[in-house]
Amino acid sequence: MADILLPTNEIVHPDKDRFLHEENPFEAMMVRFDRAAVLLDLEPGIYKVLRAPEKQIIVSIPVMMDSGEVEVFTGIRVLHNTSRGPAKGGIRFDLNVSLDEVKALAAWMTWKCAVVNIPFGGAKGGVICDPLNMSVHELERVTRRYTTGIFATLGPDSDVPAPDVNTNERVMAWLMDTYSMRVGHTVNAVTTGKPVAMGGSLGRREATGRGCMMVTKEALAHLGMQVKGTTVAVQGFGNVGSIAAELLQAEGCKIVAISDRTGGWANRNGIDVLDAMAYVQKNTTLEGYGKGDPISNEDILTLDVDVLLPAALENVITTKNAAKVKAKIVCEGANGPTTPGADAVLDKNGAFVIPDILANAGGVTVSYFEWVQNRGGYYWSEKVVNERLNDIMVNSFAEVLKLSTQHKVNMRTASYMLAISRVSTVHKLRGIYA
Ligand code: NAD
Repeated sequence: MADILLPTNEIVHPDKDRFLHEENPFEAMMVRFDRAAVLLDLEPGIYKVLRAPEKQIIVSIPVMMDSGEVEVFTGIRVLHNTSRGPAKGGIRFDLNVSLDEVKALAAWMTWKCAVVNIPFGGAKGGVICDPLNMSVHELERVTRRYTTGIFATLGPDSDVPAPDVNTNERVMAWLMDTYSMRVGHTVNAVTTGKPVAMGGSLGRREATGRGCMMVTKEALAHLGMQVKGTTVAVQGFGNVGSIAAELLQAEGCKIVAISDRTGGWANRNGIDVLDAMAYVQKNTTLEGYGKGDPISNEDILTLDVDVLLPAALENVITTKNAAKVKAKIVCEGANGPTTPGADAVLDKNGAFVIPDILANAGGVTVSYFEWVQNRGGYYWSEKVVNERLNDIMVNSFAEVLKLSTQHKVNMRTASYMLAISRVSTVHKLRGIYA
């Protein structure tokens, strides 16, 4: 029951009693939103506008399965806010997709795009299905029918999806093709995260992990710590975790523990990340890797390290284990790895948390670059992509840090304050259309 309590040392919106389950993503997001809104003294009208998603679409997706039977899936697309530009956000295929979760993730995208100041609003989508037990042809039919179902909202100027849990560049290729067939010409800017051969950006695959590396270096500099020899533990060794680990190691950090869904490995002398990546490439997971001592996914979070990088799941740092976290820096590669109750415990213990909406914004930033390249029809080198990503990540970190110092709040609250003030400024300038 401890996790249902809000931290008591922060200003809390009077409506706080509705926050009952902080592991519910929508409520976890709203706790942070409300805290920042109170500190910003947000006007009640704007507060009401920003709380409510602009559009929620639910579609039935009839699909002829390979067996010849018709199955009907449910698809959701939520546009949270488009005041700063087209809605941006991924599409996930998963049995656990729910409207509440999609609403939370859509709002998260609004704040993430605003923190790094890219001209997008926030959206998210999902189809309730079991993609791991579906054939490629069934997945293609689901994708094409879902795209048709939400067609009215899609478009480079209105709503630009991307891959998310259990979707990938192949799904984005089908989505782009379906949209293009319907409008009668090729529109590659309707989605990002596409294969490079059809307009995807160089550097997109590595962008989230690269962004994590960039902000971790900024945090180390802020705390007066050397990069060389900094010890790092990484939970989750997929796209984000493995690339962040590889790039941090290349900068001179020592990666002392890594894990995936099969468990982890700890080695005080350092793990050779490229070697571990090659192992996963060959064996799918880290199971049996063996170059270190086995460590559980719970214990990796409480190792005595300089940097902890959760890059797997939501709600892994909670009030149950936050007091045991020893890392000086927590870089949130995953979305929502820390519950609101745990925030206060980490603060009390002096951990410097780089919040998800800043730490993992490298991915959406290079998605923005992809959209820009598609619209301009001119493609950048990977070097240019990485330099521009670095500018955005470093500047955004500095802006959040400045607010955090000015208002004496943690980096999470500061990042929400920055995001909400950017979105609310545009709402005030645009006015309420009647
Ligand atoms: P991924 O599927 O490539 O990798 C996920 C990793 O987590 C895998 O190594 C998997 O084995 C591991 N994992 C799964 N369950 C686990 C468990 N119970 N304990 C420990 N590890 C477990 O996914 P990804 O793209 O790297 O995304 C990871 C996180 O980062 C997610 O929260 C995602 O929403 C977030 N994120 C990803 C991006 C991106 O561009 N890929 C951008 C922003 C945020």
